[in-house]
Amino acid sequence: MSPHKIPNEQWAQVIEDGNNKVEYKKIPVQKPGPDEVLVNIKFTGVCHTDLHALNGDWPLDRKLPLIGGHEGAGVVVARGDLVKDIEIGDHAGVKWLNGSCLACDFCQQADEPLCAKALLSGYTVDGTFQQYCIAKAAHVARIPKDVPLDAISPVLCAGITVYKGLKESGARPGETVAIVGAGGGLGSLAQQYAKAMGLKVIAIDTGADKKKACLEQLGADHFVDFMQSKDVVADVKKATPDGLGPHAVLLVAVNEKPFQQAAEYVRPRGTVVCIGLPSGAYLRAPVFDSVVKMVTIKGSYVGNRKDSAEAIEFFRRGLINAPFKVVGMSELQSVYDKMQQGEIVGRYVLDTSK
Ligand code: NAD
Ligand code: ZN
Ligand code: ZN
Repeated sequence: MSPHKIPNEQWAQVIEDGNNKVEYKKIPVQKPGPDEVLVNIKFTGVCHTDLHALNGDWPLDRKLPLIGGHEGAGVVVARGDLVKDIEIGDHAGVKWLNGSCLACDFCQQADEPLCAKALLSGYTVDGTFQQYCIAKAAHVARIPKDVPLDAISPVLCAGITVYKGLKESGARPGETVAIVGAGGGLGSLAQQYAKAMGLKVIAIDTGADKKKACLEQLGADHFVDFMQSKDVVADVKKATPDGLGPHAVLLVAVNEKPFQQAAEYVRPRGTVVCIGLPSGAYLRAPVFDSVVKMVTIKGSYVGNRKDSAEAIEFFRRGLINAPFKVVGMSELQSVYDKMQQGEIVGRYVLDTSK
């Protein structure tokens, strides 16, 4: 049926048990079920969520042994009998949302990330740190053939998530959004989507490399270094023309502090959107200020199939250009080590052939 010869064995990065390490080894290639496709993953981004999965630091059980990864871009090489709307040879993306029931209240209204039966790639089912990955056909992202598979892979989680978060923020063209964790994977894409939506950007992160990338490459109008600033709240407010603060704040940092600070610098009537998932963290906001400023604080979790298609379309139109570095999949452990140290500017993308 397929012109692509599917091997019996493949390379994968496997978390065997709770020892916080990945093992690069050969494992069998799985066969797709009736409603599934098998995607030959060419490139896959490394999201900080994969590091949470490795460390097991979330209050959500992961599958073990586990193959992580949920920003996988590749080619469909096999499909189940029920799959009619995606062809062998099509380009497809395996996202965090590997599948959902499509029947519950949330699925019916396209809030499928909220589905209680959702399958999560690289967390509750095996993900994209392998050469051949299975996903539900209904949920794989359709990737146009003129889009490069390495550059699109970070869009499949980071891009979709921040695009959705910006929509949830309600910020309108010409308004200002503060992006907290701006130099990381989600943050760098958030700046590009924000620019494409006509928003002004205050980037918040730390270090000379991230500052340079934000101001010179990603289009931030201002940069606040949270390590060097003596008063982050005052500095963020000062970065808006009238000193009243940004209309929206996108929290994509992996640190509790900014989740307890954002409500203080957001503009009256502004919205704080929580996206990052630092382990064990709590939100905090002064009740008095939140009330008299009429502040909205909300969470935002990946995106649905339509958000995914829209985020990919922004990329296809040439509006999104964020730094990424390609290394072999065999080097995943060293990528995790760099990520743990906060050293990564933008995203690392794994080439599954190396
Ligand atoms: P990343 O490691 O690439 O980037 C995090 C950035 O936050 C780094 O640049 C770091 O320097 C910066 N940072 C740390 N402390 C900070 C502080 N106090 N102020 C400002 N910046 C600070 O991580 P990522 O891949 O972009 O993921 C970010 C988080 O988002 C993770 O917790 C991940 O699990 C989560 N996530 C959530 C969703 C969702 O749907 N809600 C989707 C994807 C990822
Ligand atoms: Zn992710
Ligand atoms: Zn459902």
